[in-house]
Amino acid sequence: MSYFDKILIANRGEIARRIIRTCKRLKIRTVAVYSEADMDAPFVEEADEAVCIGPAQVKKSYLDIEKVIQVAKETEANAIHPGYGFLSENPRFVRRCEEEGIVFIGPDARTIELMGSKIEARRQMQQAGVPVVPGWDGKIDSVTEALSIADQLGYPLMLKASAGGGGIGMQVIHNPDELQKAFASTMQRAQSYFGDGTLFLEKWISGPRHIEVQVACDAYGHAVHLFERECSVQRRNQKVVEESPSPFLDEETRAKLLETALRGARHIGYSNVGTMEFIFDENRNFYFLEMNTRLQVEHPVTEEITGLDLVELQIRLAAKEKLPFQQEEIRKTGHAIECRLYAEDPKTFFPSPGVLKRLALPKEEVRLDFGVIEGSTVTPFYDPMIGKIITHGRDRSDAIHKMEKALEQIAVEGLTTNVSLLQKIVQDKDFRDGHYTTRFLEKLLV
Ligand code: ADP
Ligand code: ADP
Ligand code: MG
Repeated sequence: MSYFDKILIANRGEIARRIIRTCKRLKIRTVAVYSEADMDAPFVEEADEAVCIGPAQVKKSYLDIEKVIQVAKETEANAIHPGYGFLSENPRFVRRCEEEGIVFIGPDARTIELMGSKIEARRQMQQAGVPVVPGWDGKIDSVTEALSIADQLGYPLMLKASAGGGGIGMQVIHNPDELQKAFASTMQRAQSYFGDGTLFLEKWISGPRHIEVQVACDAYGHAVHLFERECSVQRRNQKVVEESPSPFLDEETRAKLLETALRGARHIGYSNVGTMEFIFDENRNFYFLEMNTRLQVEHPVTEEITGLDLVELQIRLAAKEKLPFQQEEIRKTGHAIECRLYAEDPKTFFPSPGVLKRLALPKEEVRLDFGVIEGSTVTPFYDPMIGKIITHGRDRSDAIHKMEKALEQIAVEGLTTNVSLLQKIVQDKDFRDGHYTTRFLEKLLV
């Protein structure tokens, strides 16, 4: 079977390497694009071809749509894999690919646009009968308007950027005073990060759990789920440890959640691999948060328990193949956990770029998705994630045990990492009991 002869990877780091790995197995040639700051990065070496597209600043390289398109044309790539972050959820980029007859490995531009706006996504899901976090369904233009809406909704609230991502552009609001203070700055932040200052308000869910559902849909209306991922261990509203299955769900709630996620994905005619994110409140009610129309950072935990290759699935679906399985054929085995190793201070979470003078990694019973090798530089220009450590066990305690052993064997010199925090997490009693919410790290660090 042949899908594409050559795929350009519009990304960097661990995800670029991850995509190259699958392409090699499928005998698809790869083109890497890289910035001057990534000249010596392993993914540049590992791709069949590599083209420098500009300086370190993302706007002048990884986010430069025309440059990426130009390289795809010059190297005669038939498809582009966007990875996560960067251009992966940019409808303008997808349209440019379509215009040039290059296949974008992901859903179509319309779907990405719909789900890229959290306000629009909420509307769509409500139409589908998917519960959304109680909140305001329009954009809020002024602080006066915000105050009056907040009054109707009741505090505490979450002020959010409609175009937000990566945990950026949201703020918990407890009273009118805080709203008054935060409104302009949150809008400004959203404008500068996402080029869109549109804000809305949601009820703040206390003691919440973040549980998401991996879906895969083909272009012929067939949709399946690949179970859930528990992502409640977070700092700055961004995930640090993920696992599947979720220790929180009973079979009945799980079935309801998976079915609801599929209903939402079907309603928007979703095609390719995607993630429906939900938040659970203390009473086990769940609400749609947002949909990520791309491969997720934490996709390896799903791969481990299902034995599937999600990058291969993305490629096949983008090549307009039918889903190669029915729901009943997808089985899960055991339990998987992923820890994100960051070059950052384990207490303040402040990035700590530098040269990896030493990087010793575990060798057995562990999957390592790393963007760097010993001697590599973690630059201040991009996300400071060094790599992901993934273990798969026959059950949750086995996966935790393997993770504990793996973390012990990690030794890094040259920069500060969060490895001590990861160790603390997997050794914590509440974590081990599966009793944790998104506020877990806050409590662990006191
Ligand atoms: P996931 O939900 O896959 O775990 P994260 O929220 O951790 O995703 O973000 C994945 C990566 O993409 C990170 O590098 C993050 O900084 C980046 N990212 C996510 N959303 C955006 C966005 N809207 N704009 C720019 N970067 C983003
Ligand atoms: P992003 O696009 O940045 O990933 P999300 O809407 O997915 O934004 O939210 C990221 C995280 O922020 C969630 O996993 C959760 O921990 C927290 N969060 C978001 N909305 C709420 C809310 N209404 N109440 C409580 N926590 C929230
Ligand atoms: Mg999210």
